Amino acid sequence: MKRFHPWVFSGAIKKMYGEPAEGDLVNVYSNKDEFLGTGHYQIGSIAVRIVTFEDVNPDYDFWKSKVQSAWNLRKQLGFDKNLQTNVFRLIHAEGDGMPGLIVDFYNGTAVIQTHSVGMHLIREQLVQAMREVLAVRLKAVFYKSEKTLPFKADLENEDGYLFGNHSENEVMEYGLHFKVDWESGQKTGFFVDQRENRKLVERYAKDRDVLNMFCYTGGFSFYAMQGGSKSVHSVDSSGKAIDLTRENVELNFPGEKRHEAFVADGFEYLKEIQDKYDLIILDPPAFAKHRNTLPQALKGYKRINTRAFEQIRSGGILFTFSCSQVVSKDRFREAVFSAAAIAGRNVRILHQLSQPADHPVNIYHPEGEYLKGLVLYVE
Ligand code: SAH
Repeated sequence: MKRFHPWVFSGAIKKMYGEPAEGDLVNVYSNKDEFLGTGHYQIGSIAVRIVTFEDVNPDYDFWKSKVQSAWNLRKQLGFDKNLQTNVFRLIHAEGDGMPGLIVDFYNGTAVIQTHSVGMHLIREQLVQAMREVLAVRLKAVFYKSEKTLPFKADLENEDGYLFGNHSENEVMEYGLHFKVDWESGQKTGFFVDQRENRKLVERYAKDRDVLNMFCYTGGFSFYAMQGGSKSVHSVDSSGKAIDLTRENVELNFPGEKRHEAFVADGFEYLKEIQDKYDLIILDPPAFAKHRNTLPQALKGYKRINTRAFEQIRSGGILFTFSCSQVVSKDRFREAVFSAAAIAGRNVRILHQLSQPADHPVNIYHPEGEYLKGLVLYVE
């Protein structure tokens, strides 16, 4: 904690005074009784998520200043004036000094996802703070935490609007249009974190036959089409995601013949792609959600990448990703390295990708760097 890491693990607690309830603010002291910080208490392996290392009372003004600071950064990044992109991450948990809180902004609607009981309990204050900070920009706030809060805590939590109501669900990213279903879609509705990596696909797509594996609502596919690809196949195991992908194709490229979308299991689909593709994007879901599933996850990354390396056409480009927080950049690269070696291909690394600036990493919390990607040239 003296190096500002914002987590206190339960095993590191020697003594607790009082009986804090889940979500309460607690102070943390060293063995020598020095004040170290204040944070939200929770039952589980991360017992305290620190919200301040200063001896201050986290009241409404405190939270408002945090929200303001997050917005100030997004303004630095140009999101207040960007006419091409109106979807971005407004609050990125530890990266914005608010552990347990994610807020994505969708063209006027903020979608809040809490991962800690403490943030859940102050949700109304957070909404108020966002309304003050964002003013007329903010038209609605949707609360979506049923799947992310600890299920054992008895929170009587339901997803729904805390301010405003359902409105325009079309957003724009680099001028491309996307229908986003934040009410029932995965995560907060859209994978905002892949914006810059999707954009990079555009640069490599010209005249290529593209496979967008684990496509969700089609993100990468549209950039491939924009970049002049010959054909694009979008594949996902979720029928709903594929429906949205097709809807988004119509929205951006009406009557487009180059695009086809399939509902299929990724592992199965990749078995038989032969030499159909010369640009492949692999953006699977987090294979490891916990440390104990790490070996299994690494095998999963190795397997899908091996299949891609074995079959991609000569001169092909592979965009491959991992969004598992517990898989480090090095472990991921090792898995991809093994896959290349098994396939026996000559492979060069062209780009090493990460998450965009609206998903900042707190320098004292390296775990916040969760998205890893490699762009590879396969001879
Ligand atoms: N590339 C997307 C985000 C991908 S998220 C974007 O830019 O928006 C991961 C996706 O993998 C989800 O849509 C999920 O439905 C899908 N998925 C999960 N398991 C799968 C499997 N076994 N086969 C195919 N798709 C799968």
